[in-house]
Amino acid sequence: MHEYSLVQAMFDQIGAVAQARGAISVRRVRVRIGQLAGVDPALLQTAYDLFRVRTFCADAPLDIDEVPATWTCPVCHGDIATGGPLVCPDCGTPARLTAGDEIVLDRLELEVP
Ligand SMILES: [Zn+2]
Repeated sequence: MHEYSLVQAMFDQIGAVAQARGAISVRRVRVRIGQLAGVDPALLQTAYDLFRVRTFCADAPLDIDEVPATWTCPVCHGDIATGGPLVCPDCGTPARLTAGDEIVLDRLELEVP
């Protein structure tokens, strides 16, 4: 499942950061998941809770920040509402996605001795 490989990649990334900072454990993890990132937050949470046992994240709850999709016109730079046609109402240019497809490790609380 996609969410499981994502969690695995998250642990790799968290591990690298924790090691670089000399942390002994992780206290809290926060990720930002775009609405259009193709990730189910509930599944991600489940996968994380399943895998964090016996890792340095064992005691670190996961916070998931869901980011709504936002579209703008690349020409006029105006915001374009979702739910309608994704073209600029002023110039007809196809909208560009400016947020909502990201998967970002946003914040880590580390325990550093
Ligand atoms: Zn426009």
